[in-house]
Amino acid sequence: MNSYCPHCEDLCEIEERTEKETVLVKTESIEINSQYFVCQKCKRDFSSMGQEEKNIEQAYEIYRQRHNLLHPEDIRKLREKYGFSQRQFARLLLWSEPIICQYESGRLPDVAHNEVLRFVKNPLNMRDLFLTNSRRLNQRDIESIRRAIYSVVNNARELFEHQSNWLIRTHFDYDGGAHSGNRRFNMDKFIQMIAFFVAEMGSVYKTKLNKLPFYADFLYKKLYGESITGMVYLRGIHGPVPKEYDEIFGLMKGLGIMDSEISEDGDSQTERFFIKVGPNQDVFSKIELDSIKNITSKFKHFSASQIEKYSHEEVGFRETKKWEIIDYEFAQSLSID
Ligand SMILES: [Zn+2]
Repeated sequence: MNSYCPHCEDLCEIEERTEKETVLVKTESIEINSQYFVCQKCKRDFSSMGQEEKNIEQAYEIYRQRHNLLHPEDIRKLREKYGFSQRQFARLLLWSEPIICQYESGRLPDVAHNEVLRFVKNPLNMRDLFLTNSRRLNQRDIESIRRAIYSVVNNARELFEHQSNWLIRTHFDYDGGAHSGNRRFNMDKFIQMIAFFVAEMGSVYKTKLNKLPFYADFLYKKLYGESITGMVYLRGIHGPVPKEYDEIFGLMKGLGIMDSEISEDGDSQTERFFIKVGPNQDVFSKIELDSIKNITSKFKHFSASQIEKYSHEEVGFRETKKWEIIDYEFAQSLSID
């Protein structure tokens, strides 16, 4: 094809070529398939503006994937979800005013900023950030930002209520008898108990996190004749587990109460939880809370495999078939008191 060659300063026959090239993004070397033209007359190469843009975009894309960075489009969508202007969003995050505009136009977010953007995807985190930073905003911004955040937060709450009610209806329709420890299942109490354990222990492996509420509920039943949360426990493979624990932990993550990391452990994967928003202890009576604290101090230093082994000695575990409900009658023979 014919195009203008900047070397010959004339219209020449040119050919497009692709070559591996290493370019520097921030401080990292990245290999791309670089496109350029070679003039058939002078044999020298050059690249067009369009090619340069494509090459840079290719390098940026690799860099984004490497660092799990948000795309310009994601950032725009996130901002629009809350109905902020670019300026309002930057102010709320205490960043310089033009920066959101730059990110939405393709500038690579720096890693710390990227973390913050991921964090505020959750409306409850956004609300917390707003409560912390609102003093730094002007009155007119405060009002419109508040309105925008709270309408999104309410939607998140509604979604939680909806999922939570669905779970209770479908999986926890017990009349509060021997399966649930003479109490009806209380989702909020269960969630706050889990949050309490995760907050107190710093970070907890899933295997361990499944045993702790079992001990708290069964010990309370043994001492006071009823469970704390009304949770139903099953005889899992690695010990007792709360019914529908994956769903409930997922809900807690969705609510921004805790988060988790998956780590590879040989062939298997293990999930470790850490807290994001502290527990609300008001849902417990003083005796309930003392009992939960008692379980915390007893098992705080147990590893996941230690508590697993420990729980395998419980009569309720030994005498229940795989994946069946562990009856609260076994609370009487619990190894701790
Ligand atoms: Zn030329």
